[in-house]
Amino acid sequence: MKRLNLAQQMARRMPAGALGTLEKVEKAACQRGWRIYLAGGAVRDLLLRRPVLDIDLVVEGDAVQLAVETAKTLKAGRLTIHPPFLTASIRAPGLNMDFATARTESYTCPGALPSVRPAKLDDDLRRRDFSINAMAVSLNSADFGTLIDYCGGQADLKAGLIRVLHEESFRDDATRIWRAVRYEQRLGFAIERQTLTWLRHDLDKLQTVSGERIRHELECVFAEPYPEKVFRRATGLGIPKKLHPRLTMPRDLARWYARVRRVSTDKKTRGALYLALLTYNTSAAAAKQVCASLGLDKKATRIIDATHSLKSRLDALDDHPLQPSAIYQILNGYAEEAILANLTTARSGMVRRNIRFYLDELRYVKTELAGGDLLAIGMKKGPQIKAALEYLLAARLDGEVRTRRDEEKWLKESGFGN
Ligand code: ATP
Repeated sequence: MKRLNLAQQMARRMPAGALGTLEKVEKAACQRGWRIYLAGGAVRDLLLRRPVLDIDLVVEGDAVQLAVETAKTLKAGRLTIHPPFLTASIRAPGLNMDFATARTESYTCPGALPSVRPAKLDDDLRRRDFSINAMAVSLNSADFGTLIDYCGGQADLKAGLIRVLHEESFRDDATRIWRAVRYEQRLGFAIERQTLTWLRHDLDKLQTVSGERIRHELECVFAEPYPEKVFRRATGLGIPKKLHPRLTMPRDLARWYARVRRVSTDKKTRGALYLALLTYNTSAAAAKQVCASLGLDKKATRIIDATHSLKSRLDALDDHPLQPSAIYQILNGYAEEAILANLTTARSGMVRRNIRFYLDELRYVKTELAGGDLLAIGMKKGPQIKAALEYLLAARLDGEVRTRRDEEKWLKESGFGN
């Protein structure tokens, strides 16, 4: 049977200039008697006629050495090497390339990272997560573009199925549970029946995986166009409860996440908001435990803490028309992400208006007079200066003073500096 050739798809769907670079890489590999392949998600996406942004190369040879030479030839881009995994990557403008030595993996115990040994392409593809991610395309001049599919990936792509390659797969690496749901929801596929049975059976193995690896999986979910779909499906399968027994998906999550996408385009802020909202309906204590079990850094933990702390004060923004200085006092000091998270969840139009007023205007208001000016008009160093500036700012916020002269007059009349 004639094997499918993807050379045309590659020319169409890869970043400009990528094919030229791959030719050079192939030449360098060929001179050393090594063979190279495009593998994994890139092949899946080519077959799905989607753009390929990340180029994952598998080398039957020394991937690290090949990457070092390629970086020299390119004269651009940042080279990173990961010796324990026999991999390296090059990040160049418009081109991300990962080089991996074809390898086989063995798992000493569930949840641990595998130990790796160089091997043939065949072994490398058979250690992968799902059949649709276990295909390769030859980049070697003799058969450039030829699809290599030992595990039935093409058939599963056609049938829309996420299938693991063997029964032990989720036990070897339970992060594949999150990955299965993520690909299923992203591609509009279904987890194949036998795979689903094994997934359900091995759910507990999620507890053997380090917080750092689970966090990475969550970050991947947050990078999806619709993370809420992944969480809905994951919740149906009981996956989030393996993170924390009281972690339940908020009923409004889809609406909240859609709002997040409207207010924030920045990837980091979005991720922080998605996570804060995922834990929004748990107790503050449970949210803290989730942060600890994921090994979140200080900043991310602080955002989740602050989100819960502000949530408990939200009613104060709803009572009646508030003075701008009162709004300021409630919201000042909270991380912007915590404020945005609460803006996302607020049901009351009044609360939302007040928060927007703060974010758009109030937080930028400054007094004209500074500490030095207050000393110059005779005030003594110490806490009095801070108090005076706070009063002055409140007066500014509430429109009682508008100019520097107003501020000076207001200070005198209020008894400061006497
Ligand atoms: P995405 O479009 O999400 O970037 P990708 O398939 O490129 O998809 P990566 O996480 O970059 O995903 O992984 C690259 C390849 O490495 C996968 O296609 C898969 O073949 C393999 N892989 C990644 N994670 C695992 C895992 N936990 N177990 C087995 N194979 C994996």
